[in-house]
This record gives sequence, structure tokens and C-alpha cells, in this order.
Amino acid sequence: MPLFALEALTVDFRTDDGVLRAVDGVSLAVEAGEIVCLVGESGSGKSTVALAAMGLLPQPAGRVTSGAAWLDDDGARTDLVQAGERALARLRGRRLAMIFQDPMTSLNPYLTVGAQLSEVLELHEGLAHAAARARSTELLRQVGIPAPESRLDEHPHRLSGGMRQRVMIAMALACRPKLLFADEPTTALDVTVQAQILELLCRERDAVGCGILLITHDLGVVARVADRVAVMYAGRIVEAGPAREVLRRPRHPYTLALLRAVPRVDAEADAEALVAIPGAPPSPLALPTGCAFHPRCALAEARCRETRPEERRTPTAAGDVRLRCHVETSP
Ligand code: SF4
Repeated sequence: MPLFALEALTVDFRTDDGVLRAVDGVSLAVEAGEIVCLVGESGSGKSTVALAAMGLLPQPAGRVTSGAAWLDDDGARTDLVQAGERALARLRGRRLAMIFQDPMTSLNPYLTVGAQLSEVLELHEGLAHAAARARSTELLRQVGIPAPESRLDEHPHRLSGGMRQRVMIAMALACRPKLLFADEPTTALDVTVQAQILELLCRERDAVGCGILLITHDLGVVARVADRVAVMYAGRIVEAGPAREVLRRPRHPYTLALLRAVPRVDAEADAEALVAIPGAPPSPLALPTGCAFHPRCALAEARCRETRPEERRTPTAAGDVRLRCHVETSP
């Protein structure tokens, strides 16, 4: 039983223009001690997957219409979709935590860093105030914040963006959660801080054996940390498998297009020119017929415009790769 498993998760949003399907039958597993990256352009539905599992979909517009999100809670399986708000509140922090791209989403601007960290530790770990403060100092030290004791008494706005991100990570890691959702945790940061934060997540994974679902549009991040990767397009997973296999031998035209659009430091000059993906991702309110990628796909055939590709599995030495494409592409 994996630590976390999505089973055909489907999420709809009610909008003024109608109901849009943001996530369409997504299945995905995260094992303990594993980093799984969910990649795709913005609007592909990847953030919605994590918000749905955390019970944090915007209300009343967002709704899980079918599927399940199973969490292995020390041998007991809990479906996070069916769990009520009280059960989710009990799991959040202790078992589940989420890191957002914008730290101010989860930091309270009116409370000091120390007060916010202590609150988490007192609430979920039952620590007394002095012990919570000592552990907060330790957590800030672990995430690389210099002079952590003095930072405890500062408000978030006094810290740099990188520091705020580290404070949010410290809060997320405070109760040593078993499963961590990290939504673009390094996108707004410079490359040095980005590298430090990725290293921190890998260290936590190694130390606690937690599973991490890392949501990113950055294939450089995926190449650095992912054990497995799932590529999303228009609400569906179009390719998923072991990260090395998917990155080295992409089989889906969209994965290949994403990889071709990323600069490579090891590519010889002019040998591998960058190729932008033509067009733009479709609106979920007006998805193309057949394969949603067909208007942008160089390999599209007549059947791609008519029939949605079903998922098929391709065995590889590193493990199965799941694909949704009509065309047999040789990696
Ligand atoms: Fe391209 Fe057709 Fe495959 Fe879709 S199904 S990715 S349009 S080849």
C-alpha cells in the first residue's frame, strides 16, 4: 500500500461561464521516501490536485466529483476526499503538510515567526510554550536561517522572500509530516536559494522517510530531485514513470515538447536549439475534441482529433511508463 494514492480523481469548478473540469481522472501514487514531481504548464490542473487532497479547494466553486485520495495513516487507509473537516484538521500538520509558492498564503502577517511556529507545535505536538520556542529555534536553524533566535520575534514582512519561504517550510516540517505537498516552492527564488531549498527537502525526505509530491513547471527541478514524474496536460496525466526514463526517453509528444523548450547546460551550442511549444494550453471550458494536445502536436493524426487516447503502459527496465497517446513514438 503506497503512502498516498490518487484514484481517478476528478475535480470540477463552477464558474459564471459553466462548469469546468480542472482535474480529469488523475491516478498517481507516492511511496514513503520518494519524491514524485507533477509537471505541466500553468492551468494544467497540477495545483488543484494537491488542494483537493488537502481539502483546500476554493469553496463553494471547487468540488471533487469522483475518485479518491488515499493516505496510509500508520496502516489505516483514510480517503482524504471523504474525510470530514475535523479529520483533515487532525491530519494536517501531523501527517500532511503543504508548502505554497507564496509564503504569505500560509504565514500570518500579524504574528511573529516564533508565535506561528510555536502555535503549530503546541497544537499538534502538545509542547509547552518554552519547549515549543526551543524547537522553533532549532527548526529555523535546520532550514538555514541565520541567528534563528532573534528571527523568532520578527514579523514575516521583515524577512526576505527566501527567508519567508524557509519559515513556511519550517512550519510545514515542524510535525515531521509523512506526506508533503510542495507547490512550486522555489519558483519565486533565486537559483542559490532554490538549490538550498531543494537540498533541504531531499534531506527531510532522507531523515524522516516522508513522501513528497512536488508540483513544478520547472524540468530542471524535476531532473534534480524526482524519483518519479507525472506530466499533466489539460487536467489529465499524459505520461508518468521513473524520472530518469521519462526525462531521457520521453515518449509523449507533450513531454518531448516541454523538454525541448528547456535550455540545457550540457547541450552543444546550436546542436539542440530551443523550440517553444506552439500555441497555448486550452481553456478547460473549451477543450479540443479527441486528444486535448492535438492543436499543438506535430504528430497529430485524424484519430487524434476524434478520440481521446486511453492510458496504456509501456514496460521499461526502470519500471512501467504510463502514456496517453495514439501514436507509438520510439524514445
Ligand atoms: Fe499528439 Fe495524437 Fe499523441 Fe495527442 S494522441 S499527443 S495529438 S500524437
